[in-house]
Amino acid sequence: MLTDIEIARKASMKHIREVAKLLDISDDDLDYYGKYKAKLSDELWDKVKDKKDGKLILVTAINPTPAGEGKTTTTVGLGQALALREKKAVIALREPSLGPCFGVKGGASGGGYSQVVPMEDLNLHFTGDFHAITSANNLLAAMLDNHIHQGNQLNIDTNQIVWKRCLDMNDRALRNIVIGLGKKIDGVVREDHFIITVASEIMAILCLADDMEDLKARLSRIIVAYSYDGKPVTAQDLKAVGSMAALLKDAIKPNLIQTLENTPAIVHGGPFANIAHGCNSVRATKTALKLADIVVTEAGFGADLGAEKFFDIKCVSAGLKPDGVVLVATVRALKYNGGMPKKELGQADLSALKKGIVNLEKHIENLQKFQVPVVVTLNRFSSDTEEELQFVKEFCEERGCEFAISEVWEKGGEGGLALADKVIEMLDTKRSNFAPLYPLSLSLKEKIETVAKDIYGAVSVTYDSQAEKTLRKIEEMGYGQVPVCMAKNQYSLSDDPAKLGRPEGFNINIREVYLSAGAGFVVAITGTVVTMPGLPLVPAAEQIDVNEDGNIIGLF
Ligand code: ADP
Ligand code: MG
Repeated sequence: MLTDIEIARKASMKHIREVAKLLDISDDDLDYYGKYKAKLSDELWDKVKDKKDGKLILVTAINPTPAGEGKTTTTVGLGQALALREKKAVIALREPSLGPCFGVKGGASGGGYSQVVPMEDLNLHFTGDFHAITSANNLLAAMLDNHIHQGNQLNIDTNQIVWKRCLDMNDRALRNIVIGLGKKIDGVVREDHFIITVASEIMAILCLADDMEDLKARLSRIIVAYSYDGKPVTAQDLKAVGSMAALLKDAIKPNLIQTLENTPAIVHGGPFANIAHGCNSVRATKTALKLADIVVTEAGFGADLGAEKFFDIKCVSAGLKPDGVVLVATVRALKYNGGMPKKELGQADLSALKKGIVNLEKHIENLQKFQVPVVVTLNRFSSDTEEELQFVKEFCEERGCEFAISEVWEKGGEGGLALADKVIEMLDTKRSNFAPLYPLSLSLKEKIETVAKDIYGAVSVTYDSQAEKTLRKIEEMGYGQVPVCMAKNQYSLSDDPAKLGRPEGFNINIREVYLSAGAGFVVAITGTVVTMPGLPLVPAAEQIDVNEDGNIIGLF
């Protein structure tokens, strides 16, 4: 088997104009970034906005192993398979972050014969959206520090600055820094922090904004600091909104690329799935729904985080009504959830599988709480045995759940036909009565407790005293009616990554809470969340190079 980048390199890409034709997008409505990438024009939205929406399918997963379980691969493969069934389908994915490419995880453009291309472009600079977000974020930081330096009319308490600088790189040395060293002219000395670009509130805002007007309204609400008398200071107070919007003018336009089988892929935005909602942009999803009959999209991490936020944050905020869910499981991840060590996952072990399958059971039950139909798909790895596959199939069927084995990684769209047929059948025969988990009118604590108990399976929720105080303050500020964005580890349903399977009887402790006023949610943090990742002992970056032919090698 070739590596992902080798397969991607062999792709015979079509000019993006040809791919756009599949969605009836004309030349006029494409802003070209070379031959294989284009942005969709603002005028396109105006032309299609009154059309009927297609069907919306979410791809999510069980709690993963540290390697990821193939959500992106499945999404791409399903898009390819639907095209083989002559459906007008489009996939809507997130843009990968640059930092992780050089660390452990590699890129995020799918895998095997189900990838989006050009793979190197997508994983590296792409159309510059992340650069624009980084610039807008750091412009706000620069204006904030300049304001303080120039006399601090807004009375900003330098100990209560919440806005952080950002960079799209895994760089632990920037987590905690001191700025403003030097002479008086060099600014006011204070502690500062960098986060990775995908963790910037601007990323979440860009992904939730309907249009430029909504983007500006959200940017203006960003809270950058609190004053000495405890009042929030916003981006609007710093008069930074217009210039940030100028930097984001092109970044809010969705990007069009293609899969290995030349089917369309809209790839746009990529917020963190912990301190943000982990979904591609609302604008991309809405445009996709106007252009195609079936839209397949992905949310980050497992369904306890990704799907819950997709439903309760993205769908609620944007008024989207999903029609069905594809829940990705792998025999490897189920065995991992059954306590098998990561190194041994390639070995057959029915007992670990039987132990770990309770994780799948809980995710099926959870998704049914949103009243959307579910198809479980087993993303097949070459190490899986017939016996193991059969066991998972029977387990799903006994629970009245549709099931299909997916071989899209090995075979591309052809390997996804069984899944595509199940999805088409689901759309034809089952109705979605989508309902969010909680009404926004509940108190913030009630919302946190609903997610912790109904989705994670916790018996109780406790709060550190500072978190408790902040929740009260946010409600006093009039922001009690927003959804909660839970930041939790992705490996366990609980807040302890070591508790695999289907943990019971546990408590969830909320350590910290803060308001993302522009994004429009309250972040509730359990455990520790790293918003600026580091590189491992041997970073993937050591293997990446440009060869004599001018091709990038070593990216995966
Ligand atoms: P996720 O979106 O869930 O994080 P990805 O689709 O990005 O997962 O896949 C993670 C990695 O696993 C990729 O490198 C991909 O090539 C690999 N992978 C996915 N499915 C398979 C499979 N069936 N067999 C082997 N490798 C796979
Ligand atoms: Mg993915």
